[in-house]
Formats: sequence, C-alpha cells, structure tokens
Amino acid sequence: MRSLDATAATDRGRTRKRNEDAYHVGDSVFAVADGMGGHLAGDVASATALLPVKSLDGQVFPDSASAQAALLDAVLAANAAVVRKAADEPDLRGMGTTLTAAIVEGRRLHVAHVGDSRAYLFRDGDLIQLTRDHTLVAHLIEEGQISEEEAAHHPHRSIITRAIGVDVDLDVDTMTIDLQDGDQLLLCSDGLTGPVDDTTIEDILSADLAITEAASDLIDTANEAGGPDNITVVLLRFEDDEAREGTASTATVIRPDAGSGQEAEGDGERDWAQKIGRFGTFGRRSVDRDPRRDPARRQRVVTTLVVLVALVALAVLGGWWLLSRSYFVGLDGDQVAIFQGIPAEAGPVELYWVAEETDLGADELPSYQVNRFEDGVAAADLRDARTIVENAPRSDGEDGGSAGGTPAPSPSPTGDPGT
Ligand code: MG
Repeated sequence: MRSLDATAATDRGRTRKRNEDAYHVGDSVFAVADGMGGHLAGDVASATALLPVKSLDGQVFPDSASAQAALLDAVLAANAAVVRKAADEPDLRGMGTTLTAAIVEGRRLHVAHVGDSRAYLFRDGDLIQLTRDHTLVAHLIEEGQISEEEAAHHPHRSIITRAIGVDVDLDVDTMTIDLQDGDQLLLCSDGLTGPVDDTTIEDILSADLAITEAASDLIDTANEAGGPDNITVVLLRFEDDEAREGTASTATVIRPDAGSGQEAEGDGERDWAQKIGRFGTFGRRSVDRDPRRDPARRQRVVTTLVVLVALVALAVLGGWWLLSRSYFVGLDGDQVAIFQGIPAEAGPVELYWVAEETDLGADELPSYQVNRFEDGVAAADLRDARTIVENAPRSDGEDGGSAGGTPAPSPSPTGDPGT
C-alpha cells in the first residue's frame, strides 16, 4: 500500500507588501511558482503559469514517459500563456515567474523546473537539492568564479537567467526519481532558501513533526531570519508499506530526463546520495554543458547575428538616404561645386560626393566667400544650391569687395549668402 501525504504553506514574509508566490497541491500534481513584475503582474504570472500544470491533476498516464512528456508540455504551455498575456496587456509587460512542478505517477516522481525556486529530496536523513538554480550567481559558482559564501551576499544574487514568460523559447530542466518509502519532497520559493540554509531545512525535515507542522516550521524559520521575500513550501511524504515489510530495493534511480547516462543503477542508497551531492543538479542543461552544442543557443546566436547585420545594413542605407537628401555648395579643387551629403568625414570615409559641377572658379570669388565655400554652405535642395551658386558674390578684383556694390556680408560658416 502506497500513500502520499502533501501539504503547502505560504506567507508574505516580513518585508513584501504582496504575496506573488503561488502553489498547487493536488492528488498527483504539485507546484510552486514565484511571480515577478510590477503591480499585480507577479501574481498574474504565477497564477497563469499554474493553470496548465493543474490541468494534469488526476489524469492517468499509460506509462512513465507520457507522464513526463505531459508535465514538460504543461510547463511549455505555461510559458506560452504568460508570454501571450504579457504581450496582450501593457500593464503586465515584463512579468515572469519561476515554476517548479512535480507529478507523481505510481512510484515515480517527475520534476520540471525553470527559475530559482527549488525541489529538494529528503531521504534517509540527507537533504539533496534536485534542481539547479537558474541564476547568475549559480552560474558563477559553477564556473568557479565565486564561492557559495560570496554568492549569498552577491549584489546580483536576485538575477534570474531563466524564467517562465520571458521568451517563447524556453529550456526546461526535467528529472525523474524513483520514490522510496519515507522520501520527502520539498518544493519551495527562494523566500525560504534565501534566508534559510540547507542544514536548517534538513534539521526541520529530520525532526519527527507532522507534515503541516514541518511546513509551518519552515515558514516561521524564514520569517525569523528576516522574511525578506514571499515564502512558499509544498511538502510531500511518500510511504510505501510494502517496502516497510522488507522488500525495499537498494537500486534507486534518480536521473535527468535528457539522458546523461549517469544512472546510479545498483548503487547503494548512500552511494547515489553522494553522487547527487557530487553532481549537484540534473537536467537538460547540466547534461550538455558546452553551450556551443546547445542547438537552441546556436539558433539564438545565428538570429542575433542576422539581426545585427540587418541593423547595420539598415543604418548604412538610412544614412545614405539621409545624406542623399542633403545638399551643400563647396569647392571641388578650384571650382565651385554642388555636393550631396554633409561636409564631413567619418574616419576615412567622406560623407559627400559631387552632385553637379559649376563653371564658377574659386578665383572669381572674394576670399571670404572662398572661405565659406571651403566650409560648405548648406542648401535646402538642388535648386536652392544652384541659387546659392548663382547669387554668390563675385570678386571685383580686390578682397573684401562684393558684386553689385552691396556690402560684403560678414563671414559665417552657416550663413546663406544667396538669400
Ligand atoms: Mg521570491
């Protein structure tokens, strides 16, 4: 006879005004979601994400693979739903949520996970973190760039690298556990694991408490440690009376669904528990650590490059179009000419070209006018440029003179002498 006991507890914590966490405790499906986003958006994100997961509750699956696939599909549907909602409603833009969901199917437990909520397995007195946090600091720890202690106080410790509702493409970590008599599964938001360390959680789960007491003890401990965030715990206890009667198997398997081949078949319980400790986490990403081999990432890199090339091309075309609509009158050697573009250079590239030569030589102009054309005199269009050339004061043989007896205008690089 197998039995599953489950409970949940949630609390706003000591500093937050709202509780944006959400959870589900059903017959066979359990989940925690930690929403984020302004105003009501965090609540909406976490509640929306839970809907497809909840719909699996009570469903009967023909085999383990279909239960696992259904859970993954539900998480992907949750992502699509939050992405869609955020796109449709301007007030909800930017919302997202974590989602750590589990489905119990016979003696197996399947877990799907995105974000920094966690799933822990408590077995034989040991607490094992099943999920890997999708956070910047977790990544830095994995890369060996910072220590666990540094991570706890890192200024960017709240940055999440994967969440539901951010992008239509989503990588989901999944894993499968063969349950044993006495196993406890804890799903929780970071409001618990931020202020409370694993040893304390392990102590609470080891204590001989009723399941609801254990859950509220976890919440109280987080609040006593400051309660800096919303705290949610979902706690499951699995009991297998057959196993208790002496048929317990020592062959226990915990495996990532992506298939690293690192199954611990035939190992003693301690051995695999140590393996879990050593490997730390399971799932798609932890199996394929080389990001260059990740097809989704490669696709993103290619897309980014295509977009960048397109942007550069657009900028060049846009720049050329703008330049081709600008005119000025200047000097092409000793001749006055009408130019398209602007009288400037971008590095080695001249941002102008001759649009029309004229018969007017620089030697026919007073020196102040030569100076102005050297700087370039802006024109509204080609016709305006021709007018500027036509009306340019001609030299009467002496510098400072002007055509038609009018006084010489004072030199100005931006003035328009023709009008
Ligand atoms: Mg949180």
